[in-house]
Amino acid sequence: MPAPEALTSEIEARRDEIVALTQDLIRIPTLNPPGAEYRAICELLADRLRRTGFETCMIRAEGAPGDSDRYPRWNVLARREGARPGPCVHFNGHVDVVEVGHGWTVDPFGGTLRDGRVHGRGACDMKGGLAAAIVAAEAFIALCPDHAGAIEVSGTADEESGGYGGVAHLAEQGVFAPGRVDHVIIPEPLNKDRVCLGHRGVWWAEIETKGEIAHGSMPFLGDCAVRHMGAVIAEMEAQLFPALAARRTEMPVVPEGARASTLNLNSIHGGAVEPAPGDTGLPSPCVPDRCRMVIDRRFLIEEDPAAVEDEVRALLEGLRARRPGFDYGLRELFRVVPTMTDREAPVVQAVSRAVRAVLGREAAHVVSPGTYDQKHIDRIGRLKNCIAYGPGILDLAHKPDEWVGVEDMVHAAQVMALALDELLGLERRPATRPPAHPARPGGGGGARSHAPEADAEVPPAGVFRPR
Ligand SMILES: [Zn+2]
Repeated sequence: MPAPEALTSEIEARRDEIVALTQDLIRIPTLNPPGAEYRAICELLADRLRRTGFETCMIRAEGAPGDSDRYPRWNVLARREGARPGPCVHFNGHVDVVEVGHGWTVDPFGGTLRDGRVHGRGACDMKGGLAAAIVAAEAFIALCPDHAGAIEVSGTADEESGGYGGVAHLAEQGVFAPGRVDHVIIPEPLNKDRVCLGHRGVWWAEIETKGEIAHGSMPFLGDCAVRHMGAVIAEMEAQLFPALAARRTEMPVVPEGARASTLNLNSIHGGAVEPAPGDTGLPSPCVPDRCRMVIDRRFLIEEDPAAVEDEVRALLEGLRARRPGFDYGLRELFRVVPTMTDREAPVVQAVSRAVRAVLGREAAHVVSPGTYDQKHIDRIGRLKNCIAYGPGILDLAHKPDEWVGVEDMVHAAQVMALALDELLGLERRPATRPPAHPARPGGGGGARSHAPEADAEVPPAGVFRPR
């Protein structure tokens, strides 16, 4: 096992490599939508990782939302086996970026390096983090080629649009099955001194109120669905919003305002369709017979997921009982339960200790107000030992002139390399497993979460089939 200083200086020596890899990734415009250039960026990652002894394979999420022959949902999975049994540490980064938008002063796909910052769409969210993770793994392998266990890196599609063509698909293929993978680090931009344990829950639903169409000059002959929706919102203002704001969580959500339950009214529409741009015709006079509203409810780990829906339904039922003519529909669009990895999990402990070693301060343990790909690793993959940790400032994500600091990437890479060393370093193998070589004294390891027989597992069929 290399000394921590050897690892951190090895990363420091690779500073330019981190910058160059980030730039190379930014220069492939993996815009989502539509989901462009996934194959190209996966090939770049695969070519790179093969040079340090990773086996790689391309996995297309055929039939996933958005997948087509024009815009195939390609993902890359790379694995490097160590010299002896041990756990598997998996780094996952999404390769897609959101639209460019307006207000840029640099080329969004140029990867401009200026004043110690690499600029470009996806620099911070999250190509800089992926580059830092890859260089961390490469530096660790260079100093510790006979490490225990295995290291995996995946570059995945579509995180920005729900992750169904990316991590969700890999999870369905068994990639994140406990025993195959033990610890997952997602280098999303959450600041280099924070370990993100999970996220709040999400419930998206569409509420529809029903009325009766009639001539707009005689609204009393119909029943206005928009007025019924107005009653729904009034009821929410009077009851639901105050009740949610009073509900607080023990989850360390940042920012602080998201430590309560929240509700957003995403969109509302009733009556005639909106005129197309350039359409100068006047609307026709009708009483709207339908009104639809999409709501976005974010809930806490202390809340019963079923109660989240029941509460909205009870509000609507109350209106049905009291308000003449009130009728409604309620349809769930999307649901994700909250998740929070245990603070004592080895991956949390290893990264937190590495933050202390590199930055000289305690890591903050936080929870994200919104979800990210951890939801699929938890829900489909059933793997609990997952965190988000990476360089970059979350507030810059999706903004014009997005950037990631070079110093932050170097620090985050040092943290990830030290965490690898703690989880896979030779002297830290659990004493319960017969060592291939006599263990040197003084190598106390922490508790391991994976089953001993896990090492015998091979990747599930299909995962490593080259395509
Ligand atoms: Zn992201």
